[in-house]
Amino acid sequence: MEEIKVLDNDYIAHTYGRFDVLVTKGKGSLMYDEKGREYIDLGSGIAVNSFGICDDEWKDAVIDQLGKVSHTSNLYFSSPQAKLAKMLCERTGMKKVFFSNSGAEANECAIKVARKYSSDKYGEGRSTIITLVNSFHGRTITTLSATGQDVFHKHFGPFTEGFKYAHAGDIEELNKIVNDGGICGIMIELVQGEGGVIPLDRAYVDAIAKICKEKDILLIVDEVQTGNGRTGKLYAFENYGIKPDIFSTAKGLAGGLPFGACVMGEKTENTLGKGDHGSTFGGNPICAAGALSILSRIDDKLLDGVTKRSEFIRKKLEAVPEIESVTGLGLMLGISVNGAAAGDVVAKAIEKGCIMLTAKTKVRLLPALNIPMDVLEKGLDILIESIRECVSEK
Ligand SMILES: *Cc1c(COP(=O)(O)O)cnc(C)c1O
Repeated sequence: MEEIKVLDNDYIAHTYGRFDVLVTKGKGSLMYDEKGREYIDLGSGIAVNSFGICDDEWKDAVIDQLGKVSHTSNLYFSSPQAKLAKMLCERTGMKKVFFSNSGAEANECAIKVARKYSSDKYGEGRSTIITLVNSFHGRTITTLSATGQDVFHKHFGPFTEGFKYAHAGDIEELNKIVNDGGICGIMIELVQGEGGVIPLDRAYVDAIAKICKEKDILLIVDEVQTGNGRTGKLYAFENYGIKPDIFSTAKGLAGGLPFGACVMGEKTENTLGKGDHGSTFGGNPICAAGALSILSRIDDKLLDGVTKRSEFIRKKLEAVPEIESVTGLGLMLGISVNGAAAGDVVAKAIEKGCIMLTAKTKVRLLPALNIPMDVLEKGLDILIESIRECVSEK
């Protein structure tokens, strides 16, 4: 551990604040450090390990593909990629997919599609995308621009132009921005993840969908975190009864491999033509095979399990007086604690053998979609104990 820490400090850019844990192996919702100490994982590598760590079926699918072909360029056909695109479209009613390697890239593609759709149809000058204050859309220069938080708009300028920020819930303000003109898209997270696990209001989402339809503005849903079963539906927009023109996803899509997708509906299915966009690694066969394994198992039974686990967590946590609120959907939950900082609670929980996350001032839970109930309960007990200790230490 000490040697690794020295190497990390000497040779890795200091962009991450790391907890004092060296993960050496894991299985399902359990992880182990180099001393063999066990941790319950309520973070899934930030909603990535959809079926936990080293899930057997996923591992078999990935290894099988690894033995066939690990990479061909996008100049040739690829079976896992084509099958996965079909599955994504058939299960969502969308029409075309562009594969990327990450969430930010999936959003970059969505932004390019929205701008090109508008420039093809209406000419130049209708290229602005509205995003929400407190949103998070990624770390590239353009997706930082799209991210509606001032803290992300420092140091790296000049940023990409063409984004306007609206306050979630304020329909009047949204109308005003739209009526000022030049808007080609509205991009939203239905549950703001990094922003504090805050679901959007249904009436507001309905209003966005209505404006988009009336004005031929593209509705872009960022499902990078909310997608792939996380909220109890395959994609979160199903919870809201809306149909996006474009949605992006990544994190949990390939169950632990770097993969993303920009999924386009009827309006935009032919917007991108040959040479308009591309990626060397995008659609990589191993990642696609992993995603096929994950997506094919996110069925009604699995989703019912997500909802059941979500209800179990809420019920257990809402009975704790130190907990002020539990927000979110499915297995994407944010917990406000009265009288203790989220960071302190998470640090304490790790000491006690349970991994969880923060989002702004909240403790954030993103467990594997199939976390065993007894493991989940043990993890929640550690969370509650950690909250109590942190509150009493104050
Ligand atoms: C994590 C996240 C991203 C960025 O994804 P990367 O894979 O880190 O590029 C974008 N949007 C949302 C909503 C996210 O949660």
